[in-house]
Amino acid sequence: MKSINSELPVVVTGGSGYIASWIVKYLLEEGKSVRATVRSLKDNKKIAHLLELKDQFKDKLTLLEADLLQDGSFDQTIEGTELVIHTASPFFVAGIKNAQKQLVDPALQGTRNVLESCNRVSSVKRVVLTSSVAAIHSDNIDSLQVPNNTFTEEHWNTTSNLTHQPYAYSKTLAEKEAWEIQKKQTRWDLVVINPSFVMGPSLSKRLDGTSVEFMKNMLTGVFRTGVPDTKMGFVDVRDVARAHILAGFTPNAKGRHITSAEVIPMLGVAKIVKENFGKKYSVPTGNLPKALVYVIGPFFGLSWSYTKNNIGQPLNLNNEYSKSDLGLTYRSLNETFVDHVNQMQTSGLI
Ligand code: NAP
Repeated sequence: MKSINSELPVVVTGGSGYIASWIVKYLLEEGKSVRATVRSLKDNKKIAHLLELKDQFKDKLTLLEADLLQDGSFDQTIEGTELVIHTASPFFVAGIKNAQKQLVDPALQGTRNVLESCNRVSSVKRVVLTSSVAAIHSDNIDSLQVPNNTFTEEHWNTTSNLTHQPYAYSKTLAEKEAWEIQKKQTRWDLVVINPSFVMGPSLSKRLDGTSVEFMKNMLTGVFRTGVPDTKMGFVDVRDVARAHILAGFTPNAKGRHITSAEVIPMLGVAKIVKENFGKKYSVPTGNLPKALVYVIGPFFGLSWSYTKNNIGQPLNLNNEYSKSDLGLTYRSLNETFVDHVNQMQTSGLI
């Protein structure tokens, strides 16, 4: 059990990211001080929305540069704080050329780097880590091995590797390493958030994030001919942000937390968009035949093994522990997708 002094600044790594930006905003709105790390203070495109928050909240927000791959990079930021929320990690699933360098090294070494800083800085009491359901399972076919095809926090992804689902592999290695490092000491505890696919309005106008890009592709006709018949868990970015803050400030919070509102077929996203926006967007109206996904899937980053192991396979994610341990509640996916589309429209992204 750890009570965090809410007068001290909270560290958020990867502060310019899609999820982290909401964490930063909510913390500031609650009156807390925040130290957010970004890769470059000169990258105005990436940090414009944080600079707007800084204008609004003044000295309550401090932006600092830190890189996951640079030893000691986070020491100064963490000095004198009790709560560190570590979100920074590369998140992309397509166009991977060197999975070790692009995904595993920053995820794994970055986690080591941040947690070693926490070991050096004696004030730290709690670390909240953004992991993923990708550290719980890899392909949907893996659900055939668990009771009721339902994954819980007890499960670990055992089937990803550098060539198959390397992003999921990077998240699995990073979370495992975090638990190993945590177990070697008693001063700080670790609470882990494992979100499914995160959607909902972005605070920035960036389009390079995987979640935002997925919605853009859905709306702009990239999937016009159809989508793979695969089930996915979805969750609102604002609920994921709240989960991190609850994980930080709930003294008894413990362990891993599947953070997912609902599992629906990919086509369900298009259905919700259509119900709310009519014919305004060129969303898919059906599933692609599996044989066709084998042929065209590779052009969209879907390998043959992905197609074989995910299309038509069951998937359930049990989110009960996030509700009981953190008191988290979930928005409906209707609200999530509608707000996401509206934000993209008002930001001029579609
Ligand atoms: P995002 O917007 O791409 O954020 C990733 C963050 O990591 C960015 O701030 C990025 O910095 C930072 N980062 C990447 N490489 C770095 C490096 N070498 N040094 C320092 N910072 C680095 O993606 P997101 O969706 O918010 O993801 C945030 C976290 O949530 C990740 O750990 C991801 O694995 C996890 N997650 C995401 C989802 C989802 O569906 N979005 C689901 C489950 C878990 P820049 O801003 O400089 O690029």
